[in-house]
Amino acid sequence: MDINKVVRQHLEMEQFFSGFTLKGAAEGLESHNQEDQMAVAEKAAELERIAEEVRQCRQCVLGSSRTHTVSGEGNPDARIMFVGEAPGADEDAQGRPFVGRAGQLLDKIINACGLKREDVFIGNILKCRPPDNRDPRAEEIVSCLPYLQKQIEIIEPEVIVALGAHAAKTLLNTTKPIGQLRGHFHEYIAGIGRPPIKLMATYHTAYLLRSYTPENRRRVWEDMKKVLAELGLPVPE
Ligand code: URA
Repeated sequence: MDINKVVRQHLEMEQFFSGFTLKGAAEGLESHNQEDQMAVAEKAAELERIAEEVRQCRQCVLGSSRTHTVSGEGNPDARIMFVGEAPGADEDAQGRPFVGRAGQLLDKIINACGLKREDVFIGNILKCRPPDNRDPRAEEIVSCLPYLQKQIEIIEPEVIVALGAHAAKTLLNTTKPIGQLRGHFHEYIAGIGRPPIKLMATYHTAYLLRSYTPENRRRVWEDMKKVLAELGLPVPE
């Protein structure tokens, strides 16, 4: 690994995603009355039940190579849910999503939106790390997807942000490339009798770190601004 490149990227990312100012506080992210708080506590309990099921899961081969399962974390009542591909080495070691370099960049993007990591929910298509960070296999996605679908059902986010090709293609059930999917809203079909959920596809932060161009950073930022506007949240300038 070229350390100078890593440091330079880090500093430039820091600068890029810190260069926006937010007029007015981001409001409307938390429920305050007692009934709402009880509903949120129930959502948290349901999410914990899923996390426990995931911990016991041995449905695919990843169940025997993982260190920790990574069910997802964040606000059980989040308006925005980020969905990535699968845990990497850092996530597997800690049992938490997006805690490595790609995660640090995701945190910066969330902060640049005027939000905190605790405001949103962060999950993945796969709950266990594929060895050597290889791509998820079809049978692994098929086994694991019901957990994510259930999480989405519980959280009922207003917008899902699919990070990267695997998340976007899986959630939209399409083979279109991420370059075509990103930049506009799609509908995630949440199930019979449930309204569709708006889904914004954008580049994965790991891709952003690899294909580190001003255009790509700007594209992700434009995608996130659309998400904020859709939610009626202040859009940083
Ligand atoms: N990349 C992902 O897709 N998910 C994580 O949790 C971390 C890195």
